[in-house]
Amino acid sequence: MLKIILGTQNEHKICEMNLISKPYGVEFQMPDTKEKDFNPDENGETFEENAYIKAHAAYTCGGGELYLADDSGLCVDYLDGAPGIKSARYADTAEHRIEKLLDVMKDAKTLHERGAHFECHLVLLDKDGEILNRTKGVCKGEIAFEKKGINGFGYDPVFIVEKLNKTMAELSDVEKNLHSHRGKALSDMLVWLKHNYL
Ligand code: IMP
Repeated sequence: MLKIILGTQNEHKICEMNLISKPYGVEFQMPDTKEKDFNPDENGETFEENAYIKAHAAYTCGGGELYLADDSGLCVDYLDGAPGIKSARYADTAEHRIEKLLDVMKDAKTLHERGAHFECHLVLLDKDGEILNRTKGVCKGEIAFEKKGINGFGYDPVFIVEKLNKTMAELSDVEKNLHSHRGKALSDMLVWLKHNYL
């Protein structure tokens, strides 16, 4: 099994990603913070820049052969792409972020006006911290009028996945991975790894 250090402290993300990667012989682990804190300053202006910042922070913690990080977020048409790269900082808790989103969208009365997409960018670094590959995944949908479902994390309960008519939080982890921005970006990365590295 190839172990890749994943620049995140989100357990849920690691679980989601390991579900896809294990059949490829790849396992993700959190950065080892015994000697150095994993504390990336996500001050990039794009998802890709922030993914690189997190991958590099994982690299400085060491301990791996490869280092990967994702930066992802929700882009809402009605809000001109917000919260975008600020998705994690839109309000202080996941609950408050959803409340704020539903509130600022209260005048968008039809699903047609509530179009949105999740975006995920992955950056892979080698053992010397050099970029090996980048991938991107997008998942289109709409912002629901109220929360539905208990799975997943973040904005999942209010994101209706295009063509499924279900929120992301109503999907199992396996189903979410088939449709999600992260699932798509990761599948492309794993195919690349299979052909170029493994
Ligand atoms: P980050 O890539 O971990 O910085 O994630 C940014 C933020 O985007 C998260 O804190 C969530 O609020 C949101 N987000 C990213 N991916 C997802 C997802 O798969 N479901 C729900 N929310 C997500």
